[in-house]
Amino acid sequence: MSIERLTPEQKHATNVEVDLKQRQVRITWGDGFESIYPLDLLRKNCPCAACNEQRKDDDPLRILKPDQALASGDLTPGNPVELVGNYALQFNWIDGHRTGIYTFEFLRRLSPPKA
Ligand SMILES: [Zn+2]
Repeated sequence: MSIERLTPEQKHATNVEVDLKQRQVRITWGDGFESIYPLDLLRKNCPCAACNEQRKDDDPLRILKPDQALASGDLTPGNPVELVGNYALQFNWIDGHRTGIYTFEFLRRLSPPKA
């Protein structure tokens, strides 16, 4: 993830597409860039407090490594994603997890380098 400043265009999503078959979310940005996010990448980077906690906790006594616990996920087919205000997306994971608010800035920074 890069730490440089993003322009308003770079963090403005003009189109959000959820492809449950290919297990990916595609976002087109105001600067024309297209990001393709595998669902596993999104789930693994869930920004909610519980997942943040789990990621930073490298407790050797833990049975599951954070990655194992969080590496995969599918979205609820009927209602996979909701817009939060104008600044974020909330994904409805099929296991009921939905506390992560993915701001567009966060998503742009998380974006794989090329579409
Ligand atoms: Zn989470």
